[in-house]
Amino acid sequence: MIILGAPGAGKGTQAKVLCEKLGIPQISTGAIFRANISEGTDLGKLAQGYIDRGEFVPDEITDSLVKDRLHQEDTQDGFLLDGYPRTLAQVGALDEILLEQGHTLDIVIELVTEREALVERLLKRAEIEGRADDTEDVIRRRMEVYLEQTKPLSRVYEQRGILVEIDGLGTIEEVQERIREAIQGR
Ligand code: AMP
Repeated sequence: MIILGAPGAGKGTQAKVLCEKLGIPQISTGAIFRANISEGTDLGKLAQGYIDRGEFVPDEITDSLVKDRLHQEDTQDGFLLDGYPRTLAQVGALDEILLEQGHTLDIVIELVTEREALVERLLKRAEIEGRADDTEDVIRRRMEVYLEQTKPLSRVYEQRGILVEIDGLGTIEEVQERIREAIQGR
């Protein structure tokens, strides 16, 4: 599975709850990058500048990280990608990785939310979590990059017949319930 949505739409939160329930790993490229940054690895050093500016880490770096991650044993019975793919090129790269590893995509969940609610949520998160890329300028840049590069992905998956759109507004439990219903409906 994949979970899509704008920055602040609640992807990470919903992904975590869903993965715990289903007993599958949550694969968050953003979280992997942040862990590498705090550990000071080469990958972290490469990624940090992009992340701090609200830009995407280049596709080749991100694709190979996901490829390695999907090679690990715990993905054999399913997984949820959170924050990947984010560009059309990454969609193609993921198709190749999945084909090679004998996996298929069952469902792509898109959390749909209004733009204003998003910026507000992100500013609130900045206060709570203190993420370096949650300053107002960077948030606006991340939103622009999302609209330009990631939003078009929903159409691709819609055409493949595996997209489900979920209203992202509501409590964590309400949104989770909508996701669960959508999954069961398939
Ligand atoms: P996230 O935690 O998903 O919001 O990701 C935080 C940041 O990590 C993003 O703003 C990007 O700079 C970088 N990042 C995460 N996933 C990707 C991806 N699939 N492609 C490129 N950059 C990514």
